[in-house]
Amino acid sequence: MSVPESRAERLAAAVAEAGLESVIVGDLVRPGDSGRDQMADIAWLTGFGGSSGLAVIGPEVRGFVTDFRYTAMAAETVPDSFEVVDATADMLAAVAGLLSGRVGIVAAKTSLETHRKLGEKLGEGVELVAGEDLLTDLRRVKDEAEIEAIAAASALTDEVYAWIEERGLAGRTERDVALAAEQRMRELGAEDPAFPSIVATGANGALPHATPGDRVIEAGEYVTIDMGAILDGYCSDCTRTLVEGEPDPAHRQVYDLVLAAQTAALDAIRAGARGRAVDAVAREVITEGGHGERFGHGLGHGVGVEVHEPPRLSMRSDDTLLAGDVVTVEPGIYLPGEFGVRIEDLVVVTDDGYRNLSSRPK
Ligand code: ZN
Ligand code: ZN
Repeated sequence: MSVPESRAERLAAAVAEAGLESVIVGDLVRPGDSGRDQMADIAWLTGFGGSSGLAVIGPEVRGFVTDFRYTAMAAETVPDSFEVVDATADMLAAVAGLLSGRVGIVAAKTSLETHRKLGEKLGEGVELVAGEDLLTDLRRVKDEAEIEAIAAASALTDEVYAWIEERGLAGRTERDVALAAEQRMRELGAEDPAFPSIVATGANGALPHATPGDRVIEAGEYVTIDMGAILDGYCSDCTRTLVEGEPDPAHRQVYDLVLAAQTAALDAIRAGARGRAVDAVAREVITEGGHGERFGHGLGHGVGVEVHEPPRLSMRSDDTLLAGDVVTVEPGIYLPGEFGVRIEDLVVVTDDGYRNLSSRPK
């Protein structure tokens, strides 16, 4: 993916405002050997898609450090304003070479080990300051291109749902459905699933993060499928609880309650709404229906380069929704030993409501 130069400019402005010379962006836990989530800041800032890269950003500096495996990729994707440094021998020494004055790092993204090693390589007058994560706010509200990328990832996932339903569920194992879905995602152009797909039927549906197993899906039994795709660097996330044939009327009642909670929560979404308040709207519907104890997770989360990112819709959230936030709305009810229902849409927050990126029927 290619990203606008303005992202680095906005970060540099925030760095100056924070009274710093620069910040180090990237994975300071295992630099040089990072997973996709640990590279999310780098991907957002530079468009770089490899597993080894650190950036130094400030009003006077724009450096990107990687190793020999990725120098060609970096030259192609990282914006022109960056100086790309090949640091095969010692990434931290190369980073240290770009630093001066007060340098911001983020404690949650830095290991003690890296902090010590980097500390040993610092030049005269350079000081590492553990402070707030300046990228959190910058990454949170999505621009038009990002929203369209997420919408495309969501449309791809919807296409997989349609294909699954067409192909039929009864008689297949959870694992077969999950594997087939992920293969279909890739056939349709996804880079990867955004997270391991969940296919949970019968009592497994009562486990919010069930691992697909050998259980065979029966007609009349609810199946919870939660999946998302990564397309052009952006994630999607959608859950549908499906049934082939007629469900047990008591189960159907629980389904209808979750749907009512989701509908009410969606109606409460708009810029200015508190994450906590939107969560409470869904929770109240489920509590009034007698299952308050069985909705044990938050209502939703932000989605972007990472599938779980700010803001949060939950009982503990301090976030207030902003126009351009992309969030999930996913209430559920889980009855241990029996079954479960979760319904999840992905929406873009607007000034007066939301735009729903999930189009599959509920
Ligand atoms: Zn999900
Ligand atoms: Zn989700």
